[in-house]
Amino acid sequence: MGIAENLAQVQERIARAAEKAGRDPGEILLVGATKMNDADRVREAIRAGLPCCGENRVQELLEKNEAGAYEGAALHFIGTLQKNKAKYLVGLVSLIHSVDSEGLMQELSRQALKRGLVQDILLEVNTGGEASKSGFAPSELPAALEKAGQYSGIRVRGLMTIPPVCRSPEENLPYFRLLRQLFIDNGEKKYDNVVMDFMSMGMSGDFEAAIACGANIVRVGTAIFGVRHYPAPHV
Ligand SMILES: *Cc1c(COP(=O)(O)O)cnc(C)c1O
Repeated sequence: MGIAENLAQVQERIARAAEKAGRDPGEILLVGATKMNDADRVREAIRAGLPCCGENRVQELLEKNEAGAYEGAALHFIGTLQKNKAKYLVGLVSLIHSVDSEGLMQELSRQALKRGLVQDILLEVNTGGEASKSGFAPSELPAALEKAGQYSGIRVRGLMTIPPVCRSPEENLPYFRLLRQLFIDNGEKKYDNVVMDFMSMGMSGDFEAAIACGANIVRVGTAIFGVRHYPAPHV
């Protein structure tokens, strides 16, 4: 099946999951995870109605942006971001999902102030407590949100998580519920430069479960673009 058909199916599944949860489908933003898809395929998805693209590598994003791949859609960054690359994204993407340290918050703020703008970000939470994953531990969130008050170049708009790899979507429910609880608990307190609007969770295998738990941003790659073929490693 082509990208347009896949996209229509994903949108239909989002709508059904939202209705099942008693939610308005219109409040859920679909971010197409466009990594490893070239500018032509990204344009095809946007023509078919993809409202937002999410890239996870800075170099790839810059190259495709240069080629005009994202015209007509919003652009987010969803991957691990090194501090020294923050400067390439500030002002170019409307939301950075994956801010995982106070040092990165500080650098993003510095770059935003230089450009006279405010960069919207999400804080990534390591809900599974995995050593291999980046993100704030749930217990570190209040301090990080407090710290955001010192960085007037950023505005924290919510939380994002990538749960551990699970065999079934149901196994991810505890992680999605945890993010929802953190979103509620931390959203109740007033922090400067923090407006808790977004919960970014759910990918191709589990976005319906995430929507059941309150996700209002889902990041979907494979279900729209097909299986990614990673280049074979050099031997
Ligand atoms: C690739 C990617 C996704 C989408 O994954 P699929 O399983 O292909 O839907 C979501 N979030 C992030 C951060 C990604 O890098």
